[in-house]
Parts: sequence; structure tokens; C-alpha cells
Amino acid sequence: MTEIVTIEHVSTDIVEDADYVVVGSGAGGASAAWRLVEAGCDVAMLEEGPPVGLPDFGTQMFPAMAKMYRDNGMEAAVGRSMISMLQGRVVGGTTVVNSAIAWRVPEPAYERWSFDPAVRASFPLEDLHKHWDVLDEMMCVTPTALPIAGRGNTLPAQGAERLGWKGKVMNRFTRGCLGAGRCQQGCPNLAKQSTALNLIPAAMRKGMRVYATALVERVELDATGRAIGVAGRFRDPTLRRDGPRFRIRANKGVVLAPGCIQLPGLLHASGFRHRLLGEHFQAHPGAGLVPFFTDEVKYWEGATQGWETDHFADEGVKFEVVNVPLEINAARFPGVGRELARNVARMSHAGSWGVLVRMEAEGSVRSRPGRSARVKFTPLEDDMRRLRRALHNFAKIAVEAGAVQVMPGIYGLPPLLERDEIDRILDASLDPRHYTMVATHLFGTARAAASEDAGVCDPQFRPWGTRNLWVTDSSPFPRNLGVNPQFMIQATAMQVAEKILGA
Ligand SMILES: Cc1cc2nc3c(=O)[nH]c(=O)nc-3n(C[C@H](O)[C@H](O)[C@H](O)COP(=O)(O)OP(=O)(O)OC[C@H]3O[C@@H](n4cnc5c(N)ncnc54)[C@H](O)[C@@H]3O)c2cc1C
Ligand code: SF4
Repeated sequence: MTEIVTIEHVSTDIVEDADYVVVGSGAGGASAAWRLVEAGCDVAMLEEGPPVGLPDFGTQMFPAMAKMYRDNGMEAAVGRSMISMLQGRVVGGTTVVNSAIAWRVPEPAYERWSFDPAVRASFPLEDLHKHWDVLDEMMCVTPTALPIAGRGNTLPAQGAERLGWKGKVMNRFTRGCLGAGRCQQGCPNLAKQSTALNLIPAAMRKGMRVYATALVERVELDATGRAIGVAGRFRDPTLRRDGPRFRIRANKGVVLAPGCIQLPGLLHASGFRHRLLGEHFQAHPGAGLVPFFTDEVKYWEGATQGWETDHFADEGVKFEVVNVPLEINAARFPGVGRELARNVARMSHAGSWGVLVRMEAEGSVRSRPGRSARVKFTPLEDDMRRLRRALHNFAKIAVEAGAVQVMPGIYGLPPLLERDEIDRILDASLDPRHYTMVATHLFGTARAAASEDAGVCDPQFRPWGTRNLWVTDSSPFPRNLGVNPQFMIQATAMQVAEKILGA
């Protein structure tokens, strides 16, 4: 197996050939690349971020953001409010810093997602299950074991059970998880199965070349729209130091998986034009709820995210234990001076829970390779209504689990509500500016559709009018999902790879 090549290894410009060039090494890029390599193809993978490992996986969130997250974790979707957006930018993409939750998309969500019959025909649910079976093995999908779940995950399970609401321990991509609660800073036990630990090394053992700190600036399209390679330059993404240029010629094709915020910019910089490029952006924005208990919870002792309920899936909301890094939780605590210190001192009695909303709102993205993106997004009033109701329902779970107070995180309400005051959440403002929202599930900036008029990509996830060019991240997704997307992105990427091989 060859080493990953970075800016530190190259002193002159590079020109090389491959059968296929894959841009992006996260969920979509690694899954497609692995499948192509398994079939005997010569693949070169290009990744803007650096390779990272144990020395980078510390306890603190802010150094982790600086090293491993795009724009230091400071990206935001801006509209009537500002919604923080998080994406990884390392070898392994966001799978290195995510919480490893694996979801096979349930049938009702699949039906909604694939509302266009042509897209459904390209991605039949039974084919996706076949890919999920393979990924279950490769990425070690495992239910969170109770001994490592920690009280942070078992308390809401008790509360939901008392209410008769169905919930479950999460299935996660982990091998030997010790419940260190640090998935979002990088797993200190290398237990979390990011693509950097399985699909990428497996493909490298069979000859795949990986170039990291390699920013692809454009796809080279010939006069007929055929993708013939990519061009860009090595760049240290933290120091923004430029290195030599590269050009990788693709004899058979180019697969793009830079993530749905970066994809529109990369296609645009390659000369591709479509009036819907960057439109139909969707997300699952979420908000947090902090319950306080009399006994210690110490949520940092246990799986980062280990329990969830989709009892309210019909409303397009999902409840999750989030267990965010301590400094992120502390930043939301109310008060100044002594009062703030008193509240933060109660951290060991706090939980860290959240709700995700499958918002109907659509936004737009304008991006350029290597630059910060401009993302516009404003939740609809009904999206906010569902978010508010979900926070109230999660507060009910907290009360049933024994919480003495909850912090709803909504401007206009008292920062802390006593357990008999939680119904006040139902009267809270619906103004998105009054909530602290984060979006980590992002979709649909190059939507696939049966006609060129209605979508940027065709139902096989090829940008209309191009040849030998495919997209395997969530950009072509016709709609958002309602469940955690990594597994769906991986399965659709593998399905696209099979189509490439059969073409
Ligand atoms: C904190 C957090 C927690 C999450 N938890 C979960 C979870 O538990 N379960 C789940 O299902 N989902 C989760 N998600 C979402 C999930 O991780 C993403 O949806 C998924 O990884 C997206 O896959 P992708 O291939 O589209 O992009 P990514 O995995 O983000 O990979 C894209 C890669 O392409 C690279 N790239 C971009 N532009 C270029 C360029 N021009 N040249 C070269 N390389 C480029 C990027 O640097 C990046 O590494 C989470 C997300 C976050 C932020
Ligand atoms: S909970 Fe801890 S040990 Fe388990 S995968 Fe996450 S960081 Fe690793």
C-alpha cells in the first residue's frame, strides 16, 4: 500500500493518469471509490483536507474544529436567522468527526425521498439494502451496548418508555467503542469506523492512490461535455499555503463527492451551467435541550450519541441524545459572572439532547473551490412550529426521566424552566432568530430529476449534458431524508459505482 501524498511530499507539479478520479474522501467519495477499486479499476482520490490520526484527536473541541472542520466549524446558513453548519474537511471527510449513527432509510422516508419515479427506478430500495448489507460488515454497524451507553443515553430511554414512546439504542459504525464520548473531536480509541479506517485503506491496499491537501479547482470537460480529468493545487488548508499544481487525467471518468455545499462551486468553476445549480438546498436543522437532574449524569462518560426516538417521524422530527463537547454546552449556559459559574458547575448534572427537523424550507448555495460558501436558508413557519413542538415533547421525556429543570434555549422564555413549567415552550416565539440551530445533514444543491428542466442531474446522478461524470454525495438527492444520511449517501454512491461499471 502506498502512502497518502500531501503537500509535504511534493515539490513539483504532478501530471498523472487514472481510470477514474474521485473528488472527496468522505461518505460518498470513499464508498464509490472502494466499489470501483474492488472491480479492478485504477482510481486516484483527491481530498482537500489533510490526513489526521490519534495525535489530532484531543479532548478539546476548538482545536478539533480548526484542524478538521471546514472554515474552523464557523460555516453558517444565513436568512432570517443564522444556522451554524458543520462539515469535516479531512481524509475521511465528515465521517471522521460525526457521531457514527447508521440508518437504513425506512420505507416511508424512502418513498418521500424518491418522489420522482425515474430516480426511484435508478435506486430501488432492495438494491440499497444490498449495499447496506456490505457496509454493515465493512464499517461494523453495531447497536450501542448498554454498558458503554452511560446515563446520558439511558435517562431519556427511561423517560420515553414511561410515556409509551418508542425509542432505541442507536446503531453506530463502531468497532470496540469504549464510550469515550468524543466522536466529534475524532475518536481517541480509533473505535469509530470513519471511511479513513476501512474503505480508504482497503482500496489503497488494492492500489488506489490518495492525494490529500489537494484542492480540486475544476473538472476538465471537453467540447462534447465529457469529463477528461481534474486540475487543482496542493494547499495546506489550515495555513492556506499553496504548493505545486496537479492535473490527473481520467481515462474513464470523474466521480464528484465534495459535499453538497462545495459541489455547485466546483461544477460552476468547471464551466457547467444550469439555472438550478445551487438551488433546492435542504437540511435537517436542529436545536438542543439541556435537562438538569438531581443526581449526577456525567454525560461525557458514555457513547457520544447512543439513544434516539423516531416516534414522531410522521411529523418529520427525530429526537437524539447529542452529548455535545462540554465547551459547546457551557457556551449555552445562562448568566454572567458568579451566576454563570454556578450554572456551569452543574454540568455534571446536565444532559445534552437535541431534536432534528426535516425542514420543508429550501435555500440556495453559492460556492467556489477553496473559498467560504454563501448559503441562504430560512425555515418556514411550519418548520419552526414542528421544532417547537418537538422541543416540548423532549422536555416531557426529560420530566418523566426525573429532570428538575430544563434549559429550552429559546429567546423570550426564562433560561431555565422548572419541571412544572415546560408547557410554556408551547407559547414560545416561532421566530427562527430566537433559537440556536445547527445543521449537520445537508442535501440537494444539484437535484436529480427525470428532465433537464427540472433538475441539475439526471436520475443516475450525472449532471445533464455531461458524459463520464457522476455525483455521489447528497447534492443530487431529490429531497431531505428525515434520518441520519451517511448510510444513504454511501449506498447511493455504491449504486452509482455499479452503474458506472455496467456502463
Ligand atoms: C458533527 C456531525 C455529526 C454527524 N453525525 C452523523 C451521524 O452520526 N450519522 C449520519 O448518518 N450522518 C451524520 N452526519 C452527517 C454526515 O456525516 C454527512 O452527511 C456525510 O458525511 C456527507 O457525506 P459526503 O460524502 O457528502 O461529504 P463529506 O463526508 O463531508 O466528504 C466530502 C469531502 O470532500 C472534500 N472536498 C470538498 N471540496 C473539495 C475539493 N474541491 N477538492 C478536494 N476535496 C474536496 C471535503 O474536504 C470532504 O472531506 C454528521 C455531520 C456532522 C457535521
Ligand atoms: S463514543 Fe468514544 S470510543 Fe465510542 S466511537 Fe465515539 S469517541 Fe470513540
